[in-house]
Amino acid sequence: MFSDQIDELFNAQLNEWELAGTNYRQLERVEIRKIEFDGFRMLVQFNPERIRSSAAKVDSKSIGARPCFLCAVNRPVQQRGVSFENEFTVLLNPFPIFRKHLTIPSDRHTDQLIGKNFGKMLTLAEALPAFTIFYNGPQCGASAPDHFHFQAGNRGFLPIEKDFTRDKFTTLLSSKQGLEIWQWKNYLRGIITLTGSDKAKLITVFNHFFEKFTFIQPERPEPMLNILAYHAVGSWIIHIIPRKLHRPSQFFADGSAQIILSPASVDLGGVIITPREEDFHKINHDDIADIFSQVCLEEDELAGFFNEII
Ligand SMILES: [Zn+2]
Repeated sequence: MFSDQIDELFNAQLNEWELAGTNYRQLERVEIRKIEFDGFRMLVQFNPERIRSSAAKVDSKSIGARPCFLCAVNRPVQQRGVSFENEFTVLLNPFPIFRKHLTIPSDRHTDQLIGKNFGKMLTLAEALPAFTIFYNGPQCGASAPDHFHFQAGNRGFLPIEKDFTRDKFTTLLSSKQGLEIWQWKNYLRGIITLTGSDKAKLITVFNHFFEKFTFIQPERPEPMLNILAYHAVGSWIIHIIPRKLHRPSQFFADGSAQIILSPASVDLGGVIITPREEDFHKINHDDIADIFSQVCLEEDELAGFFNEII
């Protein structure tokens, strides 16, 4: 099975690639804080290695001036991969947030745009049921906006997965054969969740949403979003998190007001990544609520989308 090949790759790379082995061992000792919200909890992870991603310059000039680290020719010699359907290569991410963290670049150097690739995300989620597959848009946390890629992390780590099953924050808005649409309330960020076993219907409803969102953000390469997708008991679970801002004001602030946090799928899934120790210690409930309200759409702002896609 494909998952077995990925397990083998993972174990082999930890032994044969010193940088990866060291970084995964360090992750076992990583500091975690828990912050309580009304009925749910978020984790804060102090992860200095992630500074290269959180503070990555993603303007076209900086991107054009560096060799692309996702192209096969530029990868470290120790980094081996497993091909997926002759279209993607599954790699171990050497700067992990998850106990098992994969980067899954396209075999072609082509822009980070989800439009035609959403179905591939579902195929990958089905092939890797032990993982949550995630997508960061080119202005929503991807540090290589010029090279299409997904990432994946072991299931069970992101609080959003468990919170979705608790019935406390979600309402089922629509249920047709093989497709359900869910709305979230009191969870601090607007999320559209699709579940179901019918892949074609899931893709159709995603495309409807995407078209509608493109009208609202026509000046961008694609509407801003993060997506998390996984597959369990014959169904996909897909959390779509529309965005309105790349980085919050705290990112650009000076002195003690500064917090280096560049929100992406993992943060919005409930694990806040702080590469700087000072931010890890000082970030609090109100900072997180404020940052989420800056970068995400409010739950109420999604009403128009739900009317469109149900
Ligand atoms: Zn590339």
